Amino acid sequence: MVRCGMCGVPRMFSYTTRWTDDGVIVSMPRGLIRLLFMEREHLVAIYRAIEEKLGLPIDHIITEAKRKDAWTYVQDVLPPLVSDLVKKRFVRRLAYMAMIAQAAVIGLGKARLLEYREGKLLTGKISPVYYHAMFAGDALGAFETFEGRKAELAYSFLSSEMFLRIEASESAHVGERLELRETPVVKARAGFQRCRRCGAPSDLANFRWDAASGRILDQRTGEWFFVQGTRAMDAVLRELEYELGEEIPQVVAKATWDFFRRRREEHPGVFEDLSFLKIRGMGVPDSLQPTPEELRKGLDIRNGYNGAILAGMVAAACGVEEPSWSWESPQPGVIRIRIA
Ligand SMILES: [Zn+2]
Repeated sequence: MVRCGMCGVPRMFSYTTRWTDDGVIVSMPRGLIRLLFMEREHLVAIYRAIEEKLGLPIDHIITEAKRKDAWTYVQDVLPPLVSDLVKKRFVRRLAYMAMIAQAAVIGLGKARLLEYREGKLLTGKISPVYYHAMFAGDALGAFETFEGRKAELAYSFLSSEMFLRIEASESAHVGERLELRETPVVKARAGFQRCRRCGAPSDLANFRWDAASGRILDQRTGEWFFVQGTRAMDAVLRELEYELGEEIPQVVAKATWDFFRRRREEHPGVFEDLSFLKIRGMGVPDSLQPTPEELRKGLDIRNGYNGAILAGMVAAACGVEEPSWSWESPQPGVIRIRIA
């Protein structure tokens, strides 16, 4: 991994992941999709809380949403040279190797290609993995993109390793639900301090890229961070809310509040104000230290990602106990959080 000599952020990471002045993270070079930078355990907490509430696994919904989202991401980050060549058979294996390397750079874990038969079959393993059902969707979506065919997926676990088998199949089912939606971007002033050499936000100097395990580690908290598109989680949460009602966003807000409240207690100084939203690509709050009065009236977050997640994050960082929250979107690209 070649790293910036000033801030230590890997070059491959800055080439493919950019924080804009509007506080949005986008995939590069074309900026096709909006990304989030988040704690793995935060994501796990959200999905686990939903599954506990339902009493059912939601893996199949998560995998299907990621499968649909993989295509655009793969198109954007694959080096243009490889992308042209991938239509030719003999370099397709290289394209998978490039995606495996990219997965490690953005913190998805350490994957390996085990067997590949062009147009037919791919098997691989990953350990550690950021989230099994999400990685399954990433791998399936990449295979379908490169091969131009539908495929079936199976996976299993052997101790800490996840094994995947993807096989081309004309009868593979593609779900029609789970429409992906891009959130509108508005002007905002994120005010990032940036590395003078590579342009990455200076906050990223707090992170360490562990090439051996394919993880990004926050050196202040020890948390594992990763990068993912905004659209798959958005589609999963909207689908579940549509099917099951308002309980779902309440569960998401509560799981997020619990997660960050605990981190705030354990790591004084890291979650002192709301600036921690910005490096995560979650949005730019109008005030970094809102008063209880301001929180009651409503705090606007420009380029805010998800009302329920933001409510939990704001309540935790502002130290609100027993919060009651609500959120709305007064205009596209802005989320207003009210906490009493
Ligand atoms: Zn730098």
